[in-house]
Amino acid sequence: MKGNILVVDDESGIRRGCQRVLEPEGYNVETAVSLQEARQKIQEFPYDLILLDVMMPDGRGIDLLAPICARDPETVAIIITGFATIEMAVEAIKRGAYNFISKPFTADQLLMAVNQGMEKRHLSLEARRLQAIEQEAKALAQAKEEAERLSEFKSRFTFIVAHELRSPVGGAQSLLRTLTRGMAGNLTEKQQEILRRIEIRLDQLMALINDLLDLAASKTMTAEETLRPIAISQLLREAVERFTVEAEHKQIALHLTLPEDSILVPATEQGLVLICNNLLSNAIKYTPAGGEVWVQLQADPPEHVTISVRDTGIGIPQSAMPHLGEEFYRAENARGSPAIGTGLGLSIVRQIVASFAGSLHITSEEGKGSTFKVVLPQLLPS
Ligand code: ATP
Ligand code: MG
Repeated sequence: MKGNILVVDDESGIRRGCQRVLEPEGYNVETAVSLQEARQKIQEFPYDLILLDVMMPDGRGIDLLAPICARDPETVAIIITGFATIEMAVEAIKRGAYNFISKPFTADQLLMAVNQGMEKRHLSLEARRLQAIEQEAKALAQAKEEAERLSEFKSRFTFIVAHELRSPVGGAQSLLRTLTRGMAGNLTEKQQEILRRIEIRLDQLMALINDLLDLAASKTMTAEETLRPIAISQLLREAVERFTVEAEHKQIALHLTLPEDSILVPATEQGLVLICNNLLSNAIKYTPAGGEVWVQLQADPPEHVTISVRDTGIGIPQSAMPHLGEEFYRAENARGSPAIGTGLGLSIVRQIVASFAGSLHITSEEGKGSTFKVVLPQLLPS
């Protein structure tokens, strides 16, 4: 179907003639003998093009232009005019009609006017569609800008609050140490026990403050221009070393496998350290005594590297998987375990990995263990 056309004319010859010419061309043609009938049909059906006689028994055809336009401004109106009514046709054009043809007209003249009108309608619809897309894109860009502004504000706010909390909490920690070490006089068993508990609480608070600072930093420190080539093997070796005491303490065997060749990734050292610390800390934290943790670095052809941290720990319930990396999210089995945490580590990892143009992949089986893989682009020697 090429389009829907309404012919509004009181002369039956014109109506039939239009149908005879246009229908074989693939148009669906309907007719109206009066303005009243035309008004009704326009309300009921969305026509692409309307052929409109200016002089109708119940009024002037051009008075139909406003309702046509109200129904769909892209509907094309072509005026049919006799010689005596040419002035009215001119007025119709001023009021938004697209074209006019004067009676008597030939089949070719009619067809040409209609085809041109349809072409105009398609172009207008296309323009309208593009305009809508452009507006939508503009609105999206605005929303994105607003979200970025809010997120930046949040980071800055978090950073300031956490930073301001750090020194009083650090101060309280060292005052407490002078007490627990007996530097301010002897303490009873009971007093020592209470102070130990306060110390644990303060350590937790300091860990939270540090996490918040890392999170805020992870959003700002990894701007693209700060990335530089980092030798990742050495960095992993140091990270694993930092956790050996903790692992031994929990009787967890900690293994590290590195490739022979040196591998460079575009990153920041601070960011990579945070990724490694968080993944390793989780692996050890969520693995019960006697378990194992493997850290592996692998070059994935053609130009990627994968850092994987695998453990034989408590695993992650299937229902928790979609929420990992949300700020403050902790799975139920973690909350029920003795492992302390705030649920910020993975969101820090996610942020940093994304800013290094990498991706994070998590697989896990509850009760058996988890594997965290960070895939990063590799800098190949040029
Ligand atoms: P913190 O902010 O101190 O790191 P956290 O370790 O609880 O606290 P994330 O590191 O963000 O927080 O981890 C989020 C959640 O993902 C954890 O609470 C836990 O439910 C789950 N999770 C992460 N790593 C592991 C793992 N290796 N084994 C099992 N569950 C894990
Ligand atoms: Mg953690």
